[in-house]
Amino acid sequence: MVELAVIGGGPAGLRVAELAARAGFEVKLYDQKRSVGRKFLIAGKSGLNLTNAARRDEFLSVYQGADFPRDLWAEIFDRFDNDALRDWALSHGQETFVSSGKKVFPESMKAAPLLRSWVQSIKAAGALFQLNHSFKEIEPVDDGYRLMFHTPEGESEVLAKRVVFALGGGSWSRTGSDGRWVNSLSASGISVSPLQSANCGWEIEWPLGFLDEYEGQPWKNIVCKAGKLSLEGELVITKYGLEGGPIYRLGHELRKMDSATLEIDFKPTFSVERLLQKVESVRRNLADELSRRWKVQASVVSLLAYKYPEIFTKEVVPKADLAILAEEVKCLEMVLQSARPIEEAISCAGGIRWEALDDALQIRNYPNVYACGEMLDWEAPTGGYLLQGCMSSATWVAKGICAEKFD
Ligand SMILES: Cc1cc2nc3c(=O)[nH]c(=O)nc-3n(C[C@H](O)[C@H](O)[C@H](O)COP(=O)(O)OP(=O)(O)OC[C@H]3O[C@@H](n4cnc5c(N)ncnc54)[C@H](O)[C@@H]3O)c2cc1C
Repeated sequence: MVELAVIGGGPAGLRVAELAARAGFEVKLYDQKRSVGRKFLIAGKSGLNLTNAARRDEFLSVYQGADFPRDLWAEIFDRFDNDALRDWALSHGQETFVSSGKKVFPESMKAAPLLRSWVQSIKAAGALFQLNHSFKEIEPVDDGYRLMFHTPEGESEVLAKRVVFALGGGSWSRTGSDGRWVNSLSASGISVSPLQSANCGWEIEWPLGFLDEYEGQPWKNIVCKAGKLSLEGELVITKYGLEGGPIYRLGHELRKMDSATLEIDFKPTFSVERLLQKVESVRRNLADELSRRWKVQASVVSLLAYKYPEIFTKEVVPKADLAILAEEVKCLEMVLQSARPIEEAISCAGGIRWEALDDALQIRNYPNVYACGEMLDWEAPTGGYLLQGCMSSATWVAKGICAEKFD
C-alpha cells in the first residue's frame, strides 16, 4: 500500500510531493500526461507571475468563492505567504523581482528552469512519478483507498493509505487539466460546485459594422463597475466582446447577476456637469465634436450613436440631449452575453465546496484524503494570486499530513 498518493502534477501536487517526500513519506505522484507542470510551463510563456508583493490584507482581499472561509484562508496563506514563495523560488535557483502592479516574476521570466530544478529535487527526495495515469475512481478499503487509473496499458489499481487530489481546474485541457474529475468525485459523494470560466473575456453582441472599424482597439483609463466593485484599467474590443484586466477581475460579480451588465465610465476624472460645459455650444457635427471636446475614442462615440440614432441625426442638438450623452459617457451600460468558454479561461471558479472539507483540507467523508490547488472552490484575479493560492493550500495540506504522521 502506497503511503501517500498525490494525484495531479501541477504546482499544487508537486508542492505536496516535495514536502512529503522530504519529510520521509513514501510518495507516488500520478498524472495523466506524459510530463508534469504543463500549465505551469504555459504560465511561463508570459514570464511566470509567481506571486504578488501586495501587503497581507490587500493580498487576502482578492480571494473569493462561495462560503469562502476567509479566516482559514488567512492561516493557509500565513503558513506559506508571498515572501515564503519567493524564498522557495530562490531555493530552486530563481531570484525574483517585483514588477508593475507588484507582480513578482523570476528574473529568468521562464518556468522551465524552475520546474526542472523542482522536479529533480522531488525525485531526489525519493518520490516516484507515475505518468500516463488518468485517475478514474476512489473507493474506501480497509486501512486506505483503492484508486483506479486508466493507463495506456489498461486499467490499473493502486492501494494507498493517504491520498491528495491536486487535479486543477478545467481550462486549457491540453495541459491535462480537463476537469473530468468533477464527475468522478461527485459520483463518490464529494460536493463539487460546477467549474466556470474565470479570468476570461466576455461576449457582447456588437452593433452591425462596429467591429469593421474598432476590433482590437483599446479603451484606456476607464473605470469598470459590476455590482459593488469598481476597477480602473483598460479593455480591448475583440471579435466576440471585451478582454482585459478589469473584466477578468469583475467576473465574480458579473456571474452573480441575472443579466451580466458592465458599467463603464469613460471619463472618470470629469463630472457630468463638466462634460456638459465642454459641449454646451455644440449644435452640429456631433460625433466629431464629442470626440474632440471630450477626448473619447471614436469607438465610444460610435456606440452612443448606435444607441441614440435620433440624437445624432438631429440638425440642431438640444442641451437635454447633450446631457443624456454626458450621462452615458460616465456610465455606459453594456449587457454581456456570457463569459468566454472555460477552455480558454486562465483559471476556473467552482470546485470542491468548502463544506466538503475540514480545516486540514481533508475531505470530510473520506478520512486521509485531501485536496488543494485550483480544484478547490476559490478564485482570484491574475497578478500572481493563482499560483500563490495553489502553493499555499498545497503547503497547508502537506504540513498537516506530515504533522499527523509525526505526532
Ligand atoms: C495561459 C495561462 C497563464 C497563466 N499564468 C499564470 C501566472 O502568470 N500566474 C499565476 O499565478 N497563475 C497563472 N495561471 C494559472 C495557474 O497556472 C494555475 O492556477 C495553476 O497551474 C493551478 O495549479 P494546480 O496544481 O492546482 O493545477 P494544474 O496546474 O492545472 O495541474 C493539474 C494537474 O492534474 C493533472 N490531472 C488532471 N486530471 C487528472 C486525472 N483525472 N488523472 C491524473 N491527472 C490529472 C493534470 O494533468 C495536471 O498536471 C495561468 C493559467 C493559464 C491557463
